[in-house]
Amino acid sequence: MITGIKGMNDILPAEIAAWHFLESQVREVFPPFGFNEIRVPVLEKTELFCRSIGDDTDIVEKEMYTFPDKSGHSLTLRPEGTASVMRAYIEHKMYAQNQVEKLYYVGPMFRYERPQKGRYRQFHQIGAEIIGETSPLADVQLLNMLCRFFGSIGIRDALLQLNSLGCPACRPGYRQALAVFIASRLDVLCSDCRRRHQHNPLRVLDCKVEQCRTACQDAPSVLDHLCADCSTHFATVRRLLTDLNIPFEVNKRMVRGLDYYTRTTFEMVSSRLGSQNAVAAGGRYDGLIASLGGPPVPGIGFAIGMERLILMLNSSSFPPSRPDIFLVTLGDKALEKGFSLLSGLQVDGLRAEMDFSGKSMKAQMRRADKVQARLVLILGEDELARNQIQIRAMDDGSQETVDLDRLLPILSDRLAAI
Ligand code: ATP
Ligand code: MG
Repeated sequence: MITGIKGMNDILPAEIAAWHFLESQVREVFPPFGFNEIRVPVLEKTELFCRSIGDDTDIVEKEMYTFPDKSGHSLTLRPEGTASVMRAYIEHKMYAQNQVEKLYYVGPMFRYERPQKGRYRQFHQIGAEIIGETSPLADVQLLNMLCRFFGSIGIRDALLQLNSLGCPACRPGYRQALAVFIASRLDVLCSDCRRRHQHNPLRVLDCKVEQCRTACQDAPSVLDHLCADCSTHFATVRRLLTDLNIPFEVNKRMVRGLDYYTRTTFEMVSSRLGSQNAVAAGGRYDGLIASLGGPPVPGIGFAIGMERLILMLNSSSFPPSRPDIFLVTLGDKALEKGFSLLSGLQVDGLRAEMDFSGKSMKAQMRRADKVQARLVLILGEDELARNQIQIRAMDDGSQETVDLDRLLPILSDRLAAI
């Protein structure tokens, strides 16, 4: 037996309703905020992710699916969406058309991680980006949309955590202070942190190793080192969120696992998810587009993990869909006449099924029961001769015989009443 790849899940028909629900809510909630969908390839040149996410992040160091193609070019399955969207933005000179571009995407991402609950090697994200706005109003609009989205899918217990990571003016001063602090704790840090701390001390704060977390509890906070502009930006974001009644909490230790963030960063966390508690995350990336060779255009975005969202949804609200109709036929003539009747019902938009193999009535009824059809239609030689058909409601067993030419309106009535 050939099995699937570890950490890459099949989404089976019994589970698909929740995915459709999430996708339809994205398409309903995001457009009023001015967002259009963008679809980018799942494969990109490896250097795109090294340059944007950062060489010494966990993602680039350990988690990427990277391989040479047949011409020897190094390609990578995208571990996240923002880098690809920015590559497309620059490549298609989208900045020349619109001063502000708001884009969203939905699709699979790939990271070579240890699979466990809420952590997979192929997972799916819903992401959104506002490109071309420096104003803190953009941050608040994006966060408002994120919270509306959570509200629209019935999740009310996710908490928004907020921080600011400063900008190229104030970050170096903070890095310096952090580096001094880390140097004093080096002996208790994990080997990754010891290796990375000089080059990228912020990564130490994002380390998942318990010992490193404890050691960094009293680390200096970036919030105490923000320049005046970053302070004002952060204060405005907090004030406007409060005005919009969006609850949040400042988490001055959150640094995020990607290097490109500046100023506002955030996560949505839920205690219901166990140790993988972040269901969405994002932030501002004012230097990213320029660093990828584009114009100096700022941006801010988020990505929501769909598998973790689904873990938070009540799975019983998504029963697998039942057929409207199961057509039982008796005899060869009825089978063919029934088949053309069935085809007509399907064209009319009813979910209708039948058995093609001429099984016994009992076997056909068993199958109708198994698929939980709402109504069973019975077409035998007698009915056929009289141009009639029987309708049986599976829930209460009630039965009636109707003329075939009146079937469609009667079915619509009966189905509407179930
Ligand atoms: P974590 O701290 O859980 O490793 P992250 O910081 O690596 O998350 P991001 O890169 O910010 O995550 O991705 C945004 C969201 O995507 C996460 O909040 C999470 O919901 C989801 N996500 C990230 N990695 C995975 C994964 N391997 N499996 C499932 N979902 C994931
Ligand atoms: Mg991660």
